[in-house]
Parts: sequence; structure tokens; C-alpha cells
Amino acid sequence: MAEKTLHGIAASPGIVIGRAYLLDRRKVVVAGQQITDINVKSEVDKFKKAVALSKAQIEEIRKRFTKDLGKSHRYILDTHIMLLEDKMLVDGTVKRIKDAHVNAEGALKETIEAIVRKFDAIEDEYLRERKHDVEQVGERVLRNLVGRKQESLADIREEAVIIAHDLAPTDTLMMRKDKILGFATDAGSRTSHTAILARSHGIPAAVGLDNVTASVKTGDVVVLDGIHGIVIVDPDEETFLDYLKKQRRYKYFELELDKLRELPAETLDGHAIRLQGNIELPEEVIAVADHGGMGIGLYRTEFLFLNKQTLPTEEQHYQAYRHVVERAAPNEVVIRTLDVGGDKIGLPGVSEKESNPALGLRAIRFCLHRPDIFRTQLRGILRASAHGKIKILYPMISRMTELTEIKGIMEEVKGDLRTAGIPFDEEIAVGVMIEVPAAAMIADLLAKEVNFFSVGTNDLIQYTLAIDRGNEHVAYMYEPLDPAVLRLLQRVSLAAHEAEIGLAMCGEMAGDPLYAAILLGLGFQTLSMNVAAIPWVKKVVRAVRMRDAVELADIVMQQPTAVQARRTAEAFMQERFPELAAEL
Ligand code: PEP
Ligand code: MG
Repeated sequence: MAEKTLHGIAASPGIVIGRAYLLDRRKVVVAGQQITDINVKSEVDKFKKAVALSKAQIEEIRKRFTKDLGKSHRYILDTHIMLLEDKMLVDGTVKRIKDAHVNAEGALKETIEAIVRKFDAIEDEYLRERKHDVEQVGERVLRNLVGRKQESLADIREEAVIIAHDLAPTDTLMMRKDKILGFATDAGSRTSHTAILARSHGIPAAVGLDNVTASVKTGDVVVLDGIHGIVIVDPDEETFLDYLKKQRRYKYFELELDKLRELPAETLDGHAIRLQGNIELPEEVIAVADHGGMGIGLYRTEFLFLNKQTLPTEEQHYQAYRHVVERAAPNEVVIRTLDVGGDKIGLPGVSEKESNPALGLRAIRFCLHRPDIFRTQLRGILRASAHGKIKILYPMISRMTELTEIKGIMEEVKGDLRTAGIPFDEEIAVGVMIEVPAAAMIADLLAKEVNFFSVGTNDLIQYTLAIDRGNEHVAYMYEPLDPAVLRLLQRVSLAAHEAEIGLAMCGEMAGDPLYAAILLGLGFQTLSMNVAAIPWVKKVVRAVRMRDAVELADIVMQQPTAVQARRTAEAFMQERFPELAAEL
């Protein structure tokens, strides 16, 4: 058979070559059948039993998992258990059995499809991908309904590259890591749980391959390149040897990077740079430390608002933040307040469809519109601040009056806590994200009111260059080294330095080693990124002199086009880090 190459999404870096193991995750085929009045009760009972059994199975995994591997991943299982208690899913199915007189399987399938459709309408990629949790939980209940056993990754005896339609978090939790070389799935995105867990376990993975399960049989030889999101089935000799070489080189490089873990992120001439991790799930904290990160520079709190019929309570906020800050200790955690709005997420009873959501009631605008939701979160954050070093970060600030309003609310919340005798950090630092050009232009004014800036380049680039960050047709123009972007970055840095406040970057630009020296040269002292990027950026930091970084930034700043700026940066990397440049 001729070799076949499949392209997907790079989910977790690394290269593996091995035999494939095709995990049976075929969807249970369900026939929706009409039932009579008499059968309604037995179908409802059957469904409830299947839900209870599913819950018991997940509880069992949770028990085993907690014992074997610690508590850090329990959060995902909790989400699945929560879904099994979710009104939309459970009551929705029961209602459908009763109202439409369909059997339990048919009713459950229709209910799942209706929920998934709601998720599909969400614009935010991360939130949208949470629909897989619903599908996976639904699939488990369906299997229990029809009595089909779920094949488990815990049963795998030989080393293998797992090929599956999709993997449930429970799969990834139960797998024997010594046997799993990597995984490749039809479904998923960079922000799906599978991808997040693969990264935190350091297992190479490619997702979103569309039809990898149709192209691979158990026993086939496959190459999995998690750096580029590629799977090659039945590689010919030349490809095989080529990847063997790449794999060795990457392994060697990883080992070299690993040596940096305990070493400080310090330039050759002694400037200390703080490298931190961005997280979305509390359990990712451990991975940040494992990769040598010094705390959490961006904790996106949207996850707390997911898969829920009701808004998170103050207690839920508090518990989640406390969990994170205690695990990150003694390092700091920067908690970003809720960044949703428009049609990004369906908050019960509050979401409205907007025709231009990126420019709508997003992030801080939404929170100021709904101070009740904002206050609850602030109280949770403040209470958690009694347990470790927390900083608060406000997203999408675009005008000074927003800060005035936030301060008013913050003072009220603090006053309430004081009155109630609830402890919190009275000195808690407050920062704003600079991710709208307006904020960059008034950085000098904002700097007088806050303790630090964190530049969100993902949005700053989108708004500066007028490029929808999710639109593949204009993706080629999305360019961090565009002179317009660089000038804004420089302006923000000057304002921060003049006011002597902290300056961080937490957008994706901060995690690309190609930009690291330029960012140091522009005066960024803290860079927060996806965990896997930390050692790569540290390598650059430890090998440059600040003097050279400033000179590079100067030269890059003078380039009239992004193409020329990029060439300049690449030439610098080629000259200074030929081996690193080869891996990029
Ligand atoms: C950013 O905009 O750069 C950022 C870090 O925030 P998010 O990607 O969550 O919008
Ligand atoms: Mg942003």
C-alpha cells in the first residue's frame, strides 16, 4: 500500500513512529422508535438506570484515578458527572420520551443533538469545543442503554499510537502512559480536552484529522508528527528514515530543553525575565511548573461558566481559584475576569445575539453591564487571595471610565468582605489587558491607575489590523511583526516603564521563540504562554544579551513591512540559534 499523509491540527508536540491501535469509538447506531403510552414509564426507568450506571462508571474512574495519579485531573470528570445531572440533558430526554413518545435511545440522541446545535452557535472556539463533553457523556449513556461495552485504553498491552474518532477525557485519564506513544483523532481542536491533556502529559498528538479512523487499521505502521499535526500511514522507506532522524533530533532537543527547567530565565547579561503559563483548566497548573514556568500569567476563567444551567456561585469561583493558587504557590496567579459576551456563550437568560460580537458587549463591557455577575466573581477572587499571591486582570479595557466603574465596584466588594470579617489580600494587584488599540493609545493614562499591563496580542492584532482572528480567509494577514502592531507594543512598553508598573504579554506572540528576543528588546519583563512553549522561549532568553535584544528590536522596528521585519528576525535566529531555528 502506498503511504498516505493526513493533515490535521498540531495538538501536542513530538514525533512518534509505531503501530496503530484503532480504538472502537464507532458511534452507537440508534433507531428512534415510537412507543405507546404503556411503555413510557419503562423507557424513562431504563434511561434513568443508564444515567445512574454512567455516573457510577465515572465515579469509579475518578476514585481509581484520584488514588493512582493525584487529584489534578478530577475537574474534567466532575464536569462529566455534572452533565449527567444536567437538566437540559436528563430532564430534556425524559420530557422527550413522555411528550414525543419515542424510546429512550431516540430521545437521548435527539436531546444531545439539540444541545450540540446550541454549542455550535457559540463563536468562541474554546467554549464551542465543550460540546464534545456533551457528546462523550451522551455516547456513554447510549452505550449503557444498548448494553455495548466501552473499550478501554487501560486494556492496551502493547506500545501503540492510538487512533480514534475522539477521545473522552476519561480515556486519556485511564490510559497506561507507558503504552501510549501518541494519539491521533478525527475530531477535536487545539483547545479540546484531549489536546489540553495530551500537552499536559507530554504525549504527542494530532487532532482534527477528519478521517484518520477510516484510513488506518490496527497494526498499520504510522508516523505521528504532533509538531505539525500530520499522520503518515504506511510510510515508505525514505519517509520512515526521514522521520526517524527528525524524531531523534527532536528528542535530543527536548532533552536539552529539559535541562533548562530548573535554570532561571535570565539573559547572558543578567536580566531576569519571568516566563509563565496560560491556563484554562485548573489542572493545567502542574504542567506549568513541570515546564519550568514561574506561575500563571493568564488564567482564563470562562471554563467556570460552561455546561451549566445556572451561573457559578461565589463558592465555586472561590474553590476553583483557591485550588489554582495553592498549587501554583509560591508563584503568582493572574486571574482574568470573565471574557465573554455577545453570542460567545449562552449565559442563562442574559445572552443576546449581536450582529458584530467582536465589537459588542464583550469582556469587561459585559461585566459592567451585569455587575451582579462581576461582583460574584470578584468576591470569589478576593476570598481566594487570602490563600496565595493573586493578581486580577481585566480584559478588553478601552477607556478610562471603565476603570473608574471597576474601582467603584471593587471598593464596594472589598467593603462588604471587611464588614463580614472575611480575609483577603488588601494589597491585591490589579492590571488591565491591552488588547484594543484604544488602550494602547491611552496606555500613559491607564498606567497611572493600575499595577500592571498584560498585552493580549491575539486581540490586539485582530483589532489593529482589522482581521477576524478566526477567519481563515484573512489569516495570512495576521502578523505580529506588522509595523502597526510593533509601534503599539513599543508605546505600551514606554508608558509602563515611565509609570514604573509591570509589563507582561500573554497573547500567543509571547510563546513564539522567534519573537522572544524582540520582546525583551522592547522591554517586556514577563511573558506568559502555552506551557509547551516555555522551555523554547527560555532557551532564547538564556542565550541573548539584553543589549543585542534591544538592537534587534530597533532594527525590526525600522522595517517598513511585516515581511521585512520577519526576515530580519529570522536572520537573527538563524545566526544565533541555528539548531533552534531548524525546529521552528
Ligand atoms: C489575547 O487576546 O491575546 C488574549 C490573551 O486573550 P484571549 O486569547 O483569551 O482573547
Ligand atoms: Mg483577548
